[in-house]
Amino acid sequence: MLNFDQKKLIGSAAIFLAGIVSVPAVQANRLESFMLDKSRNRIEFSTQDQVEPRGQIIENPPRLVIDLPGATYSGPTVRRNVGSMVQSLRVGRLDSLTTRLVVEFSPDFNLNALDEQPLKMVAKSPSRWSIQFPSAIATAIQNTAMSFIMPTVGGISSPFGWRINPVTGRRQLHKGIDFAAPMGAPILAASEGIVNDVGWDDGGYGNFVELRHTDGSLTMYAHASRVIVSKGQQVSQGQIIAEVGSTGRSTGPHLHFEVVINKQAVDPSPFLHSDLVIMNIASR
Ligand SMILES: [Zn+2]
Repeated sequence: MLNFDQKKLIGSAAIFLAGIVSVPAVQANRLESFMLDKSRNRIEFSTQDQVEPRGQIIENPPRLVIDLPGATYSGPTVRRNVGSMVQSLRVGRLDSLTTRLVVEFSPDFNLNALDEQPLKMVAKSPSRWSIQFPSAIATAIQNTAMSFIMPTVGGISSPFGWRINPVTGRRQLHKGIDFAAPMGAPILAASEGIVNDVGWDDGGYGNFVELRHTDGSLTMYAHASRVIVSKGQQVSQGQIIAEVGSTGRSTGPHLHFEVVINKQAVDPSPFLHSDLVIMNIASR
């Protein structure tokens, strides 16, 4: 009932405004969220208004495709790596009136498991849907390779990917994950390694620590209020290396965490013990 009233209100406001400024009379039905919940083995998505999703399994390469007719998505196609069996989530457009969500499975994934336990799309409300994966896929999701622990307490306030920079207002690649954490909260080494670099960065990272791990990958921890380790020091996984702060280009206390492999910043989320994979669509 509330939804209906809100919709009516938005509709009449738009018509009223249309006479003054050129505002489209019809409010677009926008995609609002798309995420994978690894602890509950399901994906969830929601739109602003009602939607009638159409799901299909495609065999080669194996993937689950969900089309949302009438739901618009205006950004470019975005893709998030997840892990080995469920490889990625993708959001894009099929055409100007249809949003397409894709869950890509590994080519090794055996789709026959879905014959015995077919996927079901369930409406929690007319704009909020979930798909529960059967146990065969659930196990595969949990088996994804992960070697880093969460580097601090707190939730993810900004994921890896293209976004409007909150400080500069410009569109740029956010090369790490931000964790909203209180000032002074411990920053932990995500894995064992050696302190590769430590100090102050003029480019905006403020006080930072960079660790080099045994496989050659680097992790970087920025905006710290205090750094506890020094260059060349050996650290173990979970060791406190710094404290959360807001130094450098920052709007409040948080940890900016980067993973660099072969000199390229990659999305850290597949390496972390995080149960939620949330697509970065909020800023679009
Ligand atoms: Zn950041």
